[in-house]
Amino acid sequence: MFLDLLPYRLSKGRLRGIWRRLPLIHLAASVILVTVLVLGFGYVPGPVGALVWFLGGCALYYAPGPGLAYGLKDNRAFCKYACPAGVLARPAARYSLVKVAGDPTKCNGHAECIAVCPMDIRIIDYTRLHLRVLSTDCILCQNCINVCPDGALNLSLGLETHGIELLRTR
Ligand code: SF4
Ligand code: SF4
Repeated sequence: MFLDLLPYRLSKGRLRGIWRRLPLIHLAASVILVTVLVLGFGYVPGPVGALVWFLGGCALYYAPGPGLAYGLKDNRAFCKYACPAGVLARPAARYSLVKVAGDPTKCNGHAECIAVCPMDIRIIDYTRLHLRVLSTDCILCQNCINVCPDGALNLSLGLETHGIELLRTR
């Protein structure tokens, strides 16, 4: 929510290469730091120490967000290239019940939805395959639904597993 207050709401596209691996590197570095401190040095913080680590960790976690947004001119740069929580959330997000769904018979293919997607998701590719937007990067901002001139997109309730749709309301 905070990141969406920054000035670069429209993404210029997703960076490739090492940028894609940064969230995993961030997560690994965090796990290694805690493991070394606890197992290597026997460090167990008391209540004050735990609070300091918590506040310091939160500051370190969120501080790069605005910097990345301004540096890359992309409000959601932190979500795409730095957030370790996204790595952990992916398995659950794949099976989330609420997702964006497209109607290929209404879609004009002009990609207005992709142009406003802050996470650079190729929504049309899913629609053409009669799939809901399965990307675990979707933040359900609904920009794509709101901009669609032909009403081809909507939220749907459903559950897919191994390519089989078990439940769908639309
Ligand atoms: S904005 Fe709507 S009509 Fe246009 S490409 Fe996307 S889903 Fe299709
Ligand atoms: S809901 Fe938002 S993040 Fe998800 S596909 Fe649509 S525009 Fe992209």
